[in-house]
Amino acid sequence: MIKYVAEPFKIKMVEPLRITTRSEREEKLKEANYNLFGIESDDVYIDLLTDSGTGAMSDAQWGGMMTGDESYAGARGYKRLQNTVKDIFKYKYCQPVHQGRAAEQVLLPSLLKKGQKCISNMHFDTTRGHVGLLGARAVDIVVPEARDTQTYVAFKGNMDVERLEAYINEVGAEEVGLIIMTITNNSAGGQPVSMANIRATKEIADKYGITMIIDAARYAENAYFIKQREEGYADVEIIDIVREMFSYADAFTMSAKKDAIVNMGGLIGIRDSEDLFTKVKGLTIPYEGFVTYGGLAGRDIEALCIGLYEGLDKNFLRYRIGQVEYIGAKLKEAGIPFQYPVGGHAVFLDAKGLLPHIPYFQFPGHALACELYLEAGIRSCDIGSYLLDLDPETGEQQEAEMEFTRLAIPRRVYTQAHFDVVIEALINIKKKASEIKGYEILWQPPVLRHFTAKLRPIE
Ligand SMILES: *Cc1c(COP(=O)(O)O)cnc(C)c1O
Repeated sequence: MIKYVAEPFKIKMVEPLRITTRSEREEKLKEANYNLFGIESDDVYIDLLTDSGTGAMSDAQWGGMMTGDESYAGARGYKRLQNTVKDIFKYKYCQPVHQGRAAEQVLLPSLLKKGQKCISNMHFDTTRGHVGLLGARAVDIVVPEARDTQTYVAFKGNMDVERLEAYINEVGAEEVGLIIMTITNNSAGGQPVSMANIRATKEIADKYGITMIIDAARYAENAYFIKQREEGYADVEIIDIVREMFSYADAFTMSAKKDAIVNMGGLIGIRDSEDLFTKVKGLTIPYEGFVTYGGLAGRDIEALCIGLYEGLDKNFLRYRIGQVEYIGAKLKEAGIPFQYPVGGHAVFLDAKGLLPHIPYFQFPGHALACELYLEAGIRSCDIGSYLLDLDPETGEQQEAEMEFTRLAIPRRVYTQAHFDVVIEALINIKKKASEIKGYEILWQPPVLRHFTAKLRPIE
């Protein structure tokens, strides 16, 4: 029996939640054209749409907001951020930006040329987008275990280093502009990457003279998994694990909306290349603003400096990963299928397993997300065929390898009782699973349709 890890904080400010009835939710969902992005947050009871920018800041972070320096140039916060990055990551240079994709926009043009390949264990969507905008090609080389949803493997987010080297030899090292290690591996379900794997990937990068960077959105969760699961790290402090992880890269991009627990913010770190830093500063000014604020208010930079440390606290991480593991254990007990083991920031429900009567072209992941909303006002999202746009060549619906419904867990926001509501809702849904209907799309835009498409249930 898994025990819920009690919160390592107490609550001093609350945000009331509106409780709706099922018939109200039926009305709201219909008005939103059965698209959960169209629901107003006031009509959601437990919002598990994303863990990005949805965390609760601490009293120390809110205190920092009051002392932030709003000077246009040379603000105090910039110095503090530089010192923080030097301390945590041992990187000489840093550049604040407004969020993760801005870090990609500002850093990647200096590292990738048109026609080159960019290799990652798995690119996050916006990273893939920026690689494409530069005329380069994003190639994912994750270990095959990432696709196995039922077997326990400690590090399903790893790069497949054998295939990586074979691929470099096949296309030629000069064709590969960059290697990006995404930790944790978001697109594989927040699965961690081992220290041995980061090290081995860097050795290959060095052997072929290729730059390696880290996509660091969930670096603290990854460090916690290394401490828990990798031999030799049980007694190493989280911050020392972080320092070793980052010693294997030349730079990093970070969405600070995840493990740095701010509502908006991003960061670039550069280990020691002054030349690269000069190029980054050059692009920051037109895209983000002057280098010492980089698209953020001074108060946001203060909150970021504090959040970077709070995200590394081992009691916080034990509670945070513990929440996700608690939900996973309860679902296992109830026979509700999900990707196992759970990752760091979310539970991926196996909608195909729960709703086998709904074919991929009627979107089981979306059907389960809608049902969770109707059942208890819980908002989640489809990570399956509905997320895939139509095939640009044939115009046909593409079939995803997995039909997931994602429950992403915001940091320091919900309690055990909230998660029990989620688990109970899923148990109720399982009982009437065969009655749940699939969906059809009535209207969709040509790309990224899931945000705005209009749907209806199939009667
Ligand atoms: C969220 C995320 C990004 C993009 O960051 P934004 O702050 O949303 O722009 C990039 N990479 C990974 C792995 C992420 O999770």
